[in-house]
Amino acid sequence: MTKSQKRAHAAAVVSVLREIYPAAECALQYAGDPWRLLVMGRLSAQCTDARVNIVCKDLFTKYPSAEAMASADIEELEAIVRPCGLYRVKAADIKAASARLMSEYGGVLPSDMDALLSFPGVGRKIANLLRGDLFGLPAVVTDTHCIRICGRLGFYPEKEKRPLVVERILTDLLPPAETSDFCHRIVLFGREYCMARAPRCAECPLAGLCKRREKHGKATH
Ligand code: SF4
Repeated sequence: MTKSQKRAHAAAVVSVLREIYPAAECALQYAGDPWRLLVMGRLSAQCTDARVNIVCKDLFTKYPSAEAMASADIEELEAIVRPCGLYRVKAADIKAASARLMSEYGGVLPSDMDALLSFPGVGRKIANLLRGDLFGLPAVVTDTHCIRICGRLGFYPEKEKRPLVVERILTDLLPPAETSDFCHRIVLFGREYCMARAPRCAECPLAGLCKRREKHGKATH
């Protein structure tokens, strides 16, 4: 496919996803608080958004602000975030990130990519989530679902799994204003249709635009 054909294909996918998921909300319930999204983004690594939402009810009741979390007892913090997995490193990161937010930024989260990457535990995935959701900036969040599904759809070879490569390809193919919402919609789509193990191809609203389906025909699940 030429570049313009690839962009047209991506635009068609964007259009169908917009129809099925008009709201495109972030699955993490952060109540509009940038600091909460920073914390929840870190906790969501190798954990489901649903579990993070549950854990964070207790977490934000005990530590309602970055200031409170910055001075948290680390063992108490670890005990609360334990259900999210990797709890020691996650607790250390969210405490240190809260302290950095207060000491370096007066509690106001910056939008600059490099500044966000300077926070403990924040990689490009979380930084892009923050930039897209909080600041309305073009931002491709290349989580495992996005990487899997966009490969199946044919935006790049299915074997491509490198987040930074995928981020660059999607940034090039998608309309900038659509990137953040697209990533939220892809997560919802992955949950409803394009699961890792048993995608529901027979009922899939993107089947007509899916290269995997085209290649394997109806034999695809
Ligand atoms: S047709 Fe199947 S593999 Fe393709 S996007 Fe839909 S669910 Fe995923």
